[in-house]
Amino acid sequence: LKALADADVTNISEVYCMGEELGRGRFSVVRQATHLKENMGYAVKEVENESLDDEENLEALETEIKILRKLRHPHIVNLKEVVTTDAYTYIIMELLSGGELFHRIIEKGCFPEPEAQNLFAQILMSMEYLHGMNIVHRDVKPENILYCSAGSNDIKLIDFGYAGIWSAEKPLTGLCGTPDYVAPEVLTWYDEDDTGTPYGKGSDMWSMGVLLYVILSGCSPFNGEEEEQLLKLVAEAKYEFYEKEWEHVSAEAKELITKLLVVDPAQRYTMEQTLAHPWLAEAVAKARAGV
Ligand code: ADP
Ligand code: MG
Repeated sequence: LKALADADVTNISEVYCMGEELGRGRFSVVRQATHLKENMGYAVKEVENESLDDEENLEALETEIKILRKLRHPHIVNLKEVVTTDAYTYIIMELLSGGELFHRIIEKGCFPEPEAQNLFAQILMSMEYLHGMNIVHRDVKPENILYCSAGSNDIKLIDFGYAGIWSAEKPLTGLCGTPDYVAPEVLTWYDEDDTGTPYGKGSDMWSMGVLLYVILSGCSPFNGEEEEQLLKLVAEAKYEFYEKEWEHVSAEAKELITKLLVVDPAQRYTMEQTLAHPWLAEAVAKARAGV
């Protein structure tokens, strides 16, 4: 990991004053921090090297750093630098202080259509850029979409911890992501016997479909008492637009969701088709003007 770092120090406190916790994930704690010389606030993802107990986890962190280094987009979190110590790896990113989309959904219940269009178009901009570089995010969900600041409606995509590089010769394999958002073809890797279907960018399009359903209704399309039940519904794309949440939502919005939540990735809407959908045309044009 030291080979991937911009700087190696004895203690992070030589460079940053570490502050309060912003969130946490599988192997990391993310804290607010101030760069001592610049006196500027950042978000620091702190990973204890010891927690990367196997080769797979280590490789995942290396991939996350390599991918972050390649990215520069107005709707994707910007990397500042990577600092290592003997015990920790610190990924220092721009601070996005507006909180997770996840929390705004809970606060609001659901988004009115114009707001949902504006939000979804911004996420599409980030995904179009990623897919253009053959990067598949593999963990698109409201916890991984952050608002730039408290009063802002501008968002950025974060968390490249599951991201993978796709090529026609070497499509992606393996189980990744989160049950509520995982695509059926990714689920074929559920049993760890390496007999799943290779997959690609379409898996992100599925997650985007789930996301759109959640933004517009405040509910998940797939619900099960047990994970096993939930995953069965996902595998068959069994969901409904319940009257109570959906009666006031336009037919165009529902149609787009229907085109994204398709089991066969070859039949599912692509990025191009999604961007061109009438429900999004205006918001996409506006978002494009902003990037
Ligand atoms: P994991 O891969 O472990 O899920 P994430 O990169 O998603 O880690 O970070 C975990 C949480 O930390 C996020 O859901 C978010 O709440 C917070 N966080 C991450 N990056 C930032 C950032 N740049 N600015 C503010 N908060 C952040
Ligand atoms: Mg995350």
